[in-house]
Amino acid sequence: MTSQNFKQRKTQWSFDLSALAAVVLVATQVLSSNAMAWGILASSEDPASAVGGARLAHAVLVKKQIRYCIGNYDPKEYDTVSISIQVEAALSLWLAAANYRLSDVPVIKEPCGSDPSELRIIISPNNPNSGQYGASTAVWLIGQSYHPQIDFDANYQFVSSNGTNAPIFDFKDFVGDLAQSLGRLNFGIMQAVRYVSFENHLGSADVARLVDTAPDVIFHSTYSVLIHEMGHAFGLCDTYVGSNHCAPGWPPPEDQPDSVMKGNGDFFLSPDDIAGIRGLFDHYRRLMQK
Ligand SMILES: [Zn+2]
Repeated sequence: MTSQNFKQRKTQWSFDLSALAAVVLVATQVLSSNAMAWGILASSEDPASAVGGARLAHAVLVKKQIRYCIGNYDPKEYDTVSISIQVEAALSLWLAAANYRLSDVPVIKEPCGSDPSELRIIISPNNPNSGQYGASTAVWLIGQSYHPQIDFDANYQFVSSNGTNAPIFDFKDFVGDLAQSLGRLNFGIMQAVRYVSFENHLGSADVARLVDTAPDVIFHSTYSVLIHEMGHAFGLCDTYVGSNHCAPGWPPPEDQPDSVMKGNGDFFLSPDDIAGIRGLFDHYRRLMQK
C-alpha cells in the first residue's frame, strides 16, 4: 500500500511557513508562562527497580550510551534504514531537550540479540504487544536484563478521516510528496525529519496539508508515533484524558497542557515535554544519589 491511496482533494489554501513559525513562537511564549505539568510513569519512579532502571533516562545517566536494535518483520512496508533514521531523530529530540548532545550519549545501532540493547523497536504483523492503537512501549525481560521495547503492529488499521482504512505508514512513504510540495531536490528521509522536527517545528496537520492527506494518517505514521513512544522509553507517562499510568502526585490529565505526551502528534517537543524530560532526569539523579 502506498500513501497515494490517501490523497485528498487539492485545496486552494496555500501554506505559509513563516506565518506558522510566528504562530509557534507566540504559542511557545504563552505556554512557557504557565506552570508545567507532565508526569513520569509509575513504573519509572524508582530507578533501582528492574523496570525503572530499564528506562532510557537511566541508561543515559549510568551506561552513558544507548544501544538500540530494530526487529523489522515486515521489510516490504517498512524500510529498516528509514526507521533507524527516525529512531535516531526521535532520540535526538528528547536528548537535546534534556541538555544532552548525541556526541555526549553515543547512540549505537546493533542487531537484536539475546544480550538486550538499551532499546528495542519491533515491527511485526499482528504484533500482540502493540496495544489498541497499533503501537506501544513496555519494559521487557530478555535473558537476565530489562529494557524498553517499542512495538508496532504492521497490520494495524484505522478508519482515517479520509473515510479510508489506513495503516501505520512508514514516514518515508510521504517523503516524495513532501519534496514535491516543497520544491526540493535531493530530499530524503533524513532531510524530511530535519525539516519537520528541527527546522520548522511542524505538527501532523501541517505535514498532512503539505502531502495532501488526512492529519490522522500522518499522526499514526511511524515518525510521529516514535517521538511519542520514545517519551515512554525515557520514562514519561501519557498526559491525555483517560490515561492512568502516571505516578501518583502528578497533575491530572484535565490540567495537563498540550504536548507530545498528551498525544498532539507534533514533530517537535512542547515546553511541557521539555520540562518533563528535564524533570525526569533530575528525579532520577536525586533518587540515585540516595
Ligand atoms: Zn503513550
